[in-house]
Amino acid sequence: MPQPPPEFSGRETIVDTACPLDCPDSCSLAITVRNGKILKIDGSRRNATTGGYICAKVRRFDQRVYGDGRLQYPAVRKGPRGSGRFSRITWDEAIELVTSKMIDIRDRWGAEAIVPYSYGGSNGLLSQDTTDAQLFRRFGASRLARTVCAAPTGAANMALYGKMPSVSYEDYPHAKLIVMWGANPSASGIHLIPYLREAQRRGGQLVVVDPRTTPLARQANLHLALKPGTDVVVALAVHRYLFETGCADEAFLAAHTRGASRLRERAQSWTLARAAEIAGIDQVALERFAELYAASSPALVRCGWGL
Ligand code: SF4
Repeated sequence: MPQPPPEFSGRETIVDTACPLDCPDSCSLAITVRNGKILKIDGSRRNATTGGYICAKVRRFDQRVYGDGRLQYPAVRKGPRGSGRFSRITWDEAIELVTSKMIDIRDRWGAEAIVPYSYGGSNGLLSQDTTDAQLFRRFGASRLARTVCAAPTGAANMALYGKMPSVSYEDYPHAKLIVMWGANPSASGIHLIPYLREAQRRGGQLVVVDPRTTPLARQANLHLALKPGTDVVVALAVHRYLFETGCADEAFLAAHTRGASRLRERAQSWTLARAAEIAGIDQVALERFAELYAASSPALVRCGWGL
């Protein structure tokens, strides 16, 4: 007689897997299961970078899977919006209802009247802009430029570099200066923190540019709490400083970039004093940042997605 798989054998079994969420850390997980039910979610060391440490959100993911409030079947609203009254229907009825409405909208106003709204999370391979995109493109539906979170960063990176460049965690400790600009890894990139600590332990300087006093800002060598929306003038002032003091690597700029002279012109009016005043920060602190950046090599700037 065929034996049931270990997860359904009645014994506790540890299943090695990986976190499916839209998070770059890709933690390896060790999930204790009995008869197909999750008993415990823990990190495993198979992914050396995440090293057995996982975020609190996924550690308690079983509460989400088995929570009373989880939607487990399709239901249609009965009564006015907000009344919270729904009645259960079958999957066939739900699919029929949705497709007939989509076809009706397409026939009356055109398929572009439908926005297929979705973003990251636990969509997985089937619906992370893959088969779902195929469906909606065939249908002729309108397109979504994803979210205000990642779309501007993606567009800026593509325009500047032609791709989304990144620095591997293992390289951070080699930096003499790390600038965390609008990023809060204590909340949204927890596995970077040990690498930042290691960089500081080796004598590297950490600068945090963030209006908020984040946990990382408290540990930084320098925190620039600039006013929201003033990042560009602060960056231009640092550029101006580098050009004016002869610290810009002109040979590199000539060999690998286009438009450096226009950047120089653009930065020309942004003295450290003017930028500091607009950004609401101490001019001496901004000067220190510019000096640190000019003097440190290798230096690393990590921008958050919202910038
Ligand atoms: S940090 Fe959390 S969300 Fe990100 S991969 Fe690890 S377990 Fe998943």
